[in-house]
Parts: sequence; C-alpha cells; structure tokens
Amino acid sequence: MTIESVNPATGRAIASYELTPASALPGIVERAHAAFLGWRRAAFADRAAAMERAAGILLRNQREYAQLMAEEMGKPVRNGLEEVRACATLCRHYAEHAAAMLADQPVATEWSRSRVVYRPLGVVLGVQPWNWPFHQVFRMVVPALMAGNAVVVKHASNVPGCALAIEDVFVRAELPRDLLRVLLLASQDVEALISHPLVRGVSLTGSGPAGAAVARAAGGKLKKSVLELGGSDPYLVLADADIELAARVCTEGRLSNSGQSCIAAKRMIVVEEVRAAFEARFVALMAAARVGDPLLDATDVGPIARRDLRDALHAQVQASVAAGARLLLGGVLPEGAGAFYPSTVLTDVRRGMPAFDEELFGPVAAIVPVADERAAIAAANDSAYGLGACVLTRDVQRGERIAADLLDCGMAWVNGCVREDPRLPFGGVKDSGYGREQSTWGIREFVDVKTVVVA
Ligand code: NDP
Repeated sequence: MTIESVNPATGRAIASYELTPASALPGIVERAHAAFLGWRRAAFADRAAAMERAAGILLRNQREYAQLMAEEMGKPVRNGLEEVRACATLCRHYAEHAAAMLADQPVATEWSRSRVVYRPLGVVLGVQPWNWPFHQVFRMVVPALMAGNAVVVKHASNVPGCALAIEDVFVRAELPRDLLRVLLLASQDVEALISHPLVRGVSLTGSGPAGAAVARAAGGKLKKSVLELGGSDPYLVLADADIELAARVCTEGRLSNSGQSCIAAKRMIVVEEVRAAFEARFVALMAAARVGDPLLDATDVGPIARRDLRDALHAQVQASVAAGARLLLGGVLPEGAGAFYPSTVLTDVRRGMPAFDEELFGPVAAIVPVADERAAIAAANDSAYGLGACVLTRDVQRGERIAADLLDCGMAWVNGCVREDPRLPFGGVKDSGYGREQSTWGIREFVDVKTVVVA
C-alpha cells in the first residue's frame, strides 16, 4: 500500500510513499520497548544532549523543512521557518528544564521519608495532524523522550515527507536506535497499535471523531490518553475595547497558519455598541491579507491543506449563509486546481449555524453580534468546544477576571492572541479534549507519579 503526497497549491502529486504494513507493528513496538529499557536509565544530561543536537539540525536545515511543509500542506515558507525555529526552542526548553520538572518531591508525613518520584511509562503512541506537521510532533515527542519514554508516531497521511524528515532529525541527533519511530500508517491500524501490551498510552491531536476513536480504543485497554482536539475560540470585543487593537488581534488570530489552527480566533463576539466600527476595520484588515503561493515570502495565507477540506469549509460557509449569516468578505470559490480559499468574513452569525456550532478550519471569520458583556460571555460559553478564548477591553482587571473566572476554556488571554509557549500548559475542556501538553503539566502526562515511602 502506498500514499501520495499532493501539493495543495497546484493539485499535483509530489511523491508516493510505502505505508508501514500492519504486520510490522508488533516488531516496531518491541524494538522501541527494548530501546526504552536502556533510555530510562540514561541521565537527564545525556537525554538533553540529544535534544540539543536535534535543535542544531533543525536550525541548520530550516529552509529545507519549511519548503517541504509548503509543498505538502501549503504552509507559507515564512511560517514554516518560524515553525522549525519553534521546534528547536522547544527541544532546548525541555533539555534545560526537564530534570527540574521531574525532580523528586519530598512530602511531609509521620513516616521516616515520603516522596513522589516521576518515572517513565514505556512506549507511548502519538497520533499527529498535518497543520503544524513539525511542531505538533515535537511538542508531544520531546517531553515524552526527556521523561525517559520511547515514542511511536503515526503522522497524518498528507504529510509523509515531513514524517520521514522528523525521524531523520532524531537519527542524525544520535538518539538510540528505535527509541523514536515516525510511521506512515493507515488510521485503521492505530487501534491495533494501541492494543499492543507494550504501548502504555496515547496522545492525539486532531478532530473530534479521530479523538473519540482513539480514546475508545485506549479506554477499552485501560490505557492513558491525552486529547488535543478542535476549538471554536471566542474573541470577546467589549464596549470599551481599543477597536484598532481588537481588529488586529482578531485578524492575526484568525489567519494564523492560513486559518488552520485549533487555537485560531473563530467567533468574534462583538458588543453591539462597537459592532459597526469593528466590522469596518476587521474586514479591511482581513481583505488586506495576501492569499497565494506558499513559496513566496510575501504570502500571508496559503492554500487549505487538502482539496476535500477546502470543499468542506466552503460547504460550512454556504450553510451558514443559507441559515441567515451575511457575507461581508470572500466566500466565493476561486478557479483553478489549487485548494485556495479567500479570506472570508461572515456576520450576524448565531447558534444553529455551522459558523457558530462547528470548527471552521480556514480563513473564515464569524462575527457574532451581542447586546452587552453578559451576553458576550454567554455566547462565548455556548459552544461544544472549550480550547482558548480572548477578551478585548481597556479595563485589563475586568478582562482578567472574565478570563480567569467566567470563560469555560483551557487558555484565556486578554488583549492578545491565544498562543502556544512551552512554559505554559496547552489544552482544553469539553469537546476540545483533556490532558495538557507543554510545561510541567505536559511532561507529567506520560509518567508514573509514584509514591515512595520509608516507614
Ligand atoms: P483528523 O482528525 O482525521 O486527523 C488527525 C490525525 O488522526 C491523523 O494522523 C489521522 O490520520 C488520524 N486519524 C483520523 N481518524 C482516525 C481514527 N479513526 N483512528 C486513529 N487515527 C485517526 O483530521 P483531518 O485531517 O481529517 O481534518 C479534519 C478536521 O479536523 C479539520 O477540518 C479540523 O476541523 C480538525 N483538525 C483539528 C486539528 C487541531 O489541531 N485541533 C488538527 C487537524 C484537524 P490520517 O491522516 O491517516 O487520516
């Protein structure tokens, strides 16, 4: 069985790759486990040295990797370069901090000595998406490896070249052989991999249906799972917001990664008093973004990663318009073989429309007008998702209180786009998943939190 990678900007096939046959999986897991038995005893300094080498390889080859991402899933090269650098930063962050994050913790009790120690679980599986084809993999793999685990990754089927390039980074970084494998695997083979007795947990980033399938398989075998799923992040534009700032933050948040981000700004919930001013400025900024060839430095928004995803996005826009939303910008399918979609703004969006109820994975913004702050908070929380959120207001204290206490989500920002940082936990609530990646909370997901007591 082979898979083809297709350039979404041109519709042309780039290369074809052999899938890993299901029959090879038990051997791969067993060899990863054998590598884990040595790696679990390696000093943090030795693990860190491998991550430092990986960071160097990433930085030296950043243009090659950015080009590969542009060709396989349409990410503008400029964004691809940022992504590769972020992977290097992440490697260095965990190289520097993992030992402290996983240091023994003494606990005061009546016994002679009590402490909590963090020990690796064994082989962990990562099921990864195509939208940040390098960074999504690194943010799961690097902390898991630094904690002493082995990792097997099933990467998305439309980015096989990136999958193999990532494995190669770690081979060249002289990570012990078989400790990390990045596989090209059909999604129907994932359940067999989860069922293997030596696979101790699974982390998935992707859509709700994929997350539910993986969680079912893991739950059936009593294995730990972490799910980073979709979002429909609300950006609340309150009556006292700085409208220029709000329009800029919402544009940046919506168009990040050509709109294909779980933490993109998806629903702009705007208080009626400032709606006209916000709409005018926001539409102007969205219209100014340059959609085009991802290989050009000037491009802000590349194509959608696959043509079927572009067509599904357009169907969501059309269904929202049919249900009463109004198009302020875009919404028309361009000619040509590429999977391009124009920057699009819908207004008068409300519950019952795909633009409100579902995740829109592309450069399509939904403006949801509301009467006041209370209605804005209610609309923000009226979602199956709970990943990120942002409050735009000049009253920073009030914004922080809304962010901390009133929004049902995993990450809430005031006056700035929701972003990812290895120092801060990343994840959501409700249908956005469970568990966390990044920071101390992320590295402790795939460890045994072990109690050790001397009576
Ligand atoms: P998927 O969720 O289908 O793909 C993500 C990963 O999961 C891929 O490796 C995929 O493999 C794998 N996968 C899919 N189904 C299963 C399954 N039943 N069992 C095990 N693994 C599975 O995303 P799509 O590419 O289809 O994108 C569809 C939508 O998902 C997007 O429009 C967006 O809304 C959302 N999405 C959200 C992401 C996020 O970061 N939150 C990332 C990507 C998508 P394979 O590629 O072989 O199918």
